[in-house]
Amino acid sequence: MSDLQSKIGQVIAVLAQAARNYAPACFANSLGAEDMVLTDLIAKHQPDIGIFSLDTGRLPQETYDLMQEVRQYYGLPLTVYFPDGKLVEEYVARHGINGFYDSVENRKACCFARKVEPLRRALKGKGAWITGMRRDQAVTRGALELSAFDADNGLQKFNPLLEWSNKDVWAYIRQHDVPYNKLHDQFYPSLGCAPCTRSVTPGEDIRAGRWWWEDPANKECGLHMSNARRVAHGTGVQPVGGASLQAGRERIQADTKQEAPA
Ligand code: SF4
Repeated sequence: MSDLQSKIGQVIAVLAQAARNYAPACFANSLGAEDMVLTDLIAKHQPDIGIFSLDTGRLPQETYDLMQEVRQYYGLPLTVYFPDGKLVEEYVARHGINGFYDSVENRKACCFARKVEPLRRALKGKGAWITGMRRDQAVTRGALELSAFDADNGLQKFNPLLEWSNKDVWAYIRQHDVPYNKLHDQFYPSLGCAPCTRSVTPGEDIRAGRWWWEDPANKECGLHMSNARRVAHGTGVQPVGGASLQAGRERIQADTKQEAPA
């Protein structure tokens, strides 16, 4: 059995464990390459695991195209969660439509409104969630575990592709003819919102195009707080998503109220 075949078998076993022991389990599909591998494996082996995506309102067209293709190709429902319109309006009133470029704090507040708060709604009532994170993707992901309790969201979290390499991911996609985001063919190895993602040049880190104006130790959006906090410990970096959901919401609202006309 090849190394990749063995890794595929391990992922299928982890998905089965999540579906069996933590029902209802769900998969957060960001529509990047890793997540398309998991989409393919879930569709073929554990279709009872619900798949959802977060539409931040700022995604590239290619990601919307893939979202539609996933529905048609696999015939699976893909639940899409949108941001709370009021929260986004408050953020924009306070910081401007592109205020995330002004500071790490502003950027994380935007990620909170457009990603973290919708994620909390998506995970409500679930027993486990599954992500496509890999250990070697970023300095913030070195301490990840295959399965661990996610205290921030109050449920079990599985990272079945933890030990996969980028090469493994693409070998699977080619061998199994998996649909993928066309931006990957334009040197976008890591995908996110359009204004916060650029292409990389050969030899650059695969996450170099995400929030490229920030220090690598800050490069998490708040969706995966536990690992971000481990990196932040001892560096002076304070991830905004480490605060509770209510605290994050109150902060945006308090900021906005200060600016509101009397
Ligand atoms: S990635 Fe950029 S646009 Fe998307 S939610 Fe975060 S700061 Fe906002």
